[in-house]
Amino acid sequence: NSNVFNCPLNPPDALFALAGRYKDDDSAHKVDMSIGAYRTNEAKPWILPVVHKTEELLVNDPSVTHEYLPILGNPEFRKVAAKLILGDKVDLNTVATVQTLSGTGANHMAAVFLRRYTPWGKKSNTIYVSDPTWANHHTIFSYVELDIKKYPYWDAKTKALDFEGMYSTLKKASAGDIVLLHACAHNPTGVDPTREQWEKLASLIKEKELFPFFDCAYQGFASGDLDNDAWAVRMFIDRKIDMLVCQSFAKNMGLYGERAGALHIVLSDATPETKAAIESQLATQSRAEISNPPAFGARIATKILTTPSLFDEWRRDIKTMAERILDMRAELKGELVRLGTPGNWDHLTSQIGMFSFTGLDPKQVDRLVTEFHIYLAANGRISMAGLNKNNVKYVAKSIDTVVR
Ligand code: PLP
Repeated sequence: NSNVFNCPLNPPDALFALAGRYKDDDSAHKVDMSIGAYRTNEAKPWILPVVHKTEELLVNDPSVTHEYLPILGNPEFRKVAAKLILGDKVDLNTVATVQTLSGTGANHMAAVFLRRYTPWGKKSNTIYVSDPTWANHHTIFSYVELDIKKYPYWDAKTKALDFEGMYSTLKKASAGDIVLLHACAHNPTGVDPTREQWEKLASLIKEKELFPFFDCAYQGFASGDLDNDAWAVRMFIDRKIDMLVCQSFAKNMGLYGERAGALHIVLSDATPETKAAIESQLATQSRAEISNPPAFGARIATKILTTPSLFDEWRRDIKTMAERILDMRAELKGELVRLGTPGNWDHLTSQIGMFSFTGLDPKQVDRLVTEFHIYLAANGRISMAGLNKNNVKYVAKSIDTVVR
């Protein structure tokens, strides 16, 4: 046996494997609705014009070097990134922030930290996640051996949020348990709680001493407005609820491969000493794992966030992406209604963000992939950004065929 480690062969990541199959497919009709990355109407990746402009500024700036960043990351980036999601009511001198390898890195850093330090010294290693959630949440949390429990989220019958199920399950959670919440544009369902439901969750979480773990990968993508999409996080801060926030610039700046993100730990009674202690732990963790985070993406984000004219341009670019996706939701639904496709397709336009949870079953998905060259996740999730004016009719017709 040449495998001296005797380690088993792991299956490839389902979503990246699907994206690989799409790449290898030479059908002229192929459509990629797998990975959540924005595409133009020509099905091409989009470098945001504001990012392109900023890159040119940086390349021509003699003060920009390729030196290492500090262990906790770019100091200016950490501040402006925190402000972008947390708003200006929180004193940043009390917020512990570490720059991370995008949102995934933030989730991982948070998971490792929580494995060692539990809130209020409680002995729980439990993290509640929505059913369903981003598949990588399961991989990240099980990898560091957190105890994953699920709360109901998606009601397949109503194709909407099962708020009662979610609330009653969290009501039974124990003090100190962690609750993962998608800050906005829930992946994969595209369904968020209403503001009234968020308020109820905040009250429950405070009363039960649960610890919210906000994952915010889509700020700007839900409504097209950065502040609007940060509403739930900021409401929790207003209510003085201790929490942490994972932040990604992959989607809203289109910086996917540059890995720009941050983890913020926000404690209501924190002092600068609390911040220092937590950041010292995060620094040790980061030093052990990556030494220091990558510089380039964070530098782009910082420049955009600190230059008013670039910031305005960025907001317009976000709107461009959000609006094209909204258009595609309407067109796909319109086509399905026009074709008289069995079922109700209202959820396509009521869901928000990058994804739609279509309700297509695994058999139907399999036919779409193998017969029609339309690549989507096995759970029926489609990345709306893969649709465009040239393929939406073909996708609708294909869905119509497999549904009948
Ligand atoms: N969290 C959620 C819910 C996501 O959907 C994603 C990306 O798909 C991420 C985090 C992290 O993405 P990244 O590591 O590219 O920032």
